[in-house]
Amino acid sequence: QSQELSQVQIDYHAALQALVEDGTRMVCTGRMHTDRICRFESLCYSTEAEEFVFFHSNASVMLPNLGSRRFQPALLDLSSVEDHNTQYFNFVELPAAALKFMPKPVFVPDVALITNRFNPDNLMHVFHDDLLPIFYTMQQFPDLDLESRLFFMEGWSEGQHFDLYKLLSNKQPLLREQLKTLGRLLCFTKSYVGLSKITTWYQYGFVQPQGPKANILVSGNEIRQFTEFMMERLNVSLEESSGEEYIVVFSRTINRLILNEAELILALAQEFQMKTITVSIEDHSFSHIVRLISNASMLVSMHGAQLVMSLFLPRGTTVVELFPYAINPEHYTPYKTLATLPGMDLQYVSWQNTDRENTVTYPDRPWDQGGIAHLDKAEQERIIKSKEVPRHLCCRNPEWLFRVYQDTKIDIPSLIQVIRQTVKSKPGPKKQKWPSGLYPGKVRDAKCQASVQGTSEAKLSVSWQIPWNLKYLKVREVKYEVWIQEQGENTYMPYILSHQNHTFSENIKPFTIYLVWIRCIFNKNLLGPFADVLLCST
Ligand code: UDP
Repeated sequence: QSQELSQVQIDYHAALQALVEDGTRMVCTGRMHTDRICRFESLCYSTEAEEFVFFHSNASVMLPNLGSRRFQPALLDLSSVEDHNTQYFNFVELPAAALKFMPKPVFVPDVALITNRFNPDNLMHVFHDDLLPIFYTMQQFPDLDLESRLFFMEGWSEGQHFDLYKLLSNKQPLLREQLKTLGRLLCFTKSYVGLSKITTWYQYGFVQPQGPKANILVSGNEIRQFTEFMMERLNVSLEESSGEEYIVVFSRTINRLILNEAELILALAQEFQMKTITVSIEDHSFSHIVRLISNASMLVSMHGAQLVMSLFLPRGTTVVELFPYAINPEHYTPYKTLATLPGMDLQYVSWQNTDRENTVTYPDRPWDQGGIAHLDKAEQERIIKSKEVPRHLCCRNPEWLFRVYQDTKIDIPSLIQVIRQTVKSKPGPKKQKWPSGLYPGKVRDAKCQASVQGTSEAKLSVSWQIPWNLKYLKVREVKYEVWIQEQGENTYMPYILSHQNHTFSENIKPFTIYLVWIRCIFNKNLLGPFADVLLCST
């Protein structure tokens, strides 16, 4: 029997019996609905009710058992977008005995990852909300391997980037609509529900104006491991940059156009003495775009979802983001945040059109392409006169849409000037350095010795050993920070020192107890942990 269970082909009667006897078993990680991922055995889905079903039996498990808090507001977020009220997951409960009266269950043998895509028609959302989170959710749970299957429950059709989702596992992902064709009651033998948010870096402005997430937890290293995986699956090899260096202009062909693209390309080629080529989602395959960007020296594009492709740029290269008139680059930073993630090693440059003469507006287009004809006259006039879109919430602010869908004639000299401020010499990939950004360990064997001179003067000599990991590292600059705090006081004297010992005499009183805190600092900003506090009595 145990042999049968290990086979992918399921023994139907055994599976049904297990479901009836054991019911559904759920164990989750996470303390809140926003950080929860649940693992299920025998989670079912009624394609008629469009509801997940938890079957109770004597052997069923539900952890956490939240009672009605499960609805406040939900058990978990099904997408990686935090606490979005269209993306909640829950199930309805039934006794396993009810199975007698229900359609015969159809079992899903593959290990399943059940989740929502957030906006599968927009490339930024595809990568940031779906592909990266799915990839790292799969890394978190070993049985979510290449033989597992993705189930997208948001209800959208495949969308134009479905091929990208297919790269994540060897099995065709299934959409909510397709489940109906499989049966009336589906039961997932083993499934994970939810998505890790650990790799996301941006919040889109549902509760406060958009901006970088408050607590970013991903670095360039994890981004690159993901892009390397994607390139392998796309059959794009990372060529050793033997060939000629070049600049990629990623253009949009439908809206938010660069009106003088030919002039821009010529100017870039001339200024940087490099071939300059254009690509667009409309005209090039995804693998072609990835192949080009992964060997480029610079990527230039209007603000827009296509800029998420800077994920694939080599280290040391440059992203140039162009903003239409009245759009403040500091207020819309998904691509700046990406380029400047720790260890991402990209140079980021933004340029904004500040010249009204060089912008083309489309007041008569539909509202979702920036039209404003539906607004009252006074509001239209205010928008047209305004020089900057005020901060706003997502997603239907007409002034924002009006401005972001403008076409722009780029003022070439001002653009070249801002790029030159950042890119001093020839742009291009930088050779991989010794891993940078490693933090010091604690200093070791800290000791102090006090000496008292008379009744009012004293000295404190403190010494310590280098952190253990330093002897294996190449570090440009090693410094030590020492805090001296009189016991019982809540202020302290801070010192930055270059050596492993120091005698303190300023403000040191005799017959006093001092707390001495020491930590190591690499390269000015890599602060290590404090060693255990040292007690010194003068
Ligand atoms: N898009 C494109 N060319 C265009 C207009 C849009 O490739 O001329 C792509 C864009 O990169 C994104 C999707 O179509 O993946 C939706 O674009 P939208 O303007 O709605 O979003 P944004 O780019 O502002 O995030």
